[in-house]
Amino acid sequence: MNLRIGHGYDIHRTAPGRTLVLGGVRFDADFGLDGHSDADALTHAICDALLGAAGLPDIGHQFPNTDPAYRHADSQVLLQRVIALLREHGWAPVNVDATLIAEKPRIAPRLADMKAALARSTQLPADAIGLKATTNEGVGDLGRGLAIAAHAVALVRKL
Ligand code: MG
Repeated sequence: MNLRIGHGYDIHRTAPGRTLVLGGVRFDADFGLDGHSDADALTHAICDALLGAAGLPDIGHQFPNTDPAYRHADSQVLLQRVIALLREHGWAPVNVDATLIAEKPRIAPRLADMKAALARSTQLPADAIGLKATTNEGVGDLGRGLAIAAHAVALVRKL
């Protein structure tokens, strides 16, 4: 068996006075996400899917939020490090598919930019990055815009 699949999930609370970064793209919004790094929930879910596929410990283990080195960290750099870590362990990404759950802002106009950023960081072609965005239809805390969440799956192949 030369293929393995992994799953990742992340959620961050929305917070005023922060820059909103999702999939490596900065959004013009009046809020951001709370977190130690840039709080890019989508990229974190993708990191965890890749790490999970390779049977490696999760993003919180790799880049602890108690480590000042990761304060305000650019999550695209973390994703690049995850890809390097996979290669060290004999794995390469095949494709990624993710769903972002955000009541606002509108994500669709920036999907292509996010795919391009994630393709750069993973060294995958853009068509190997699946990306969908949905609202939570007003239901629950996600629906009230109190947080943004993301689910991701990733396939890796043995080098
Ligand atoms: Mg996170």
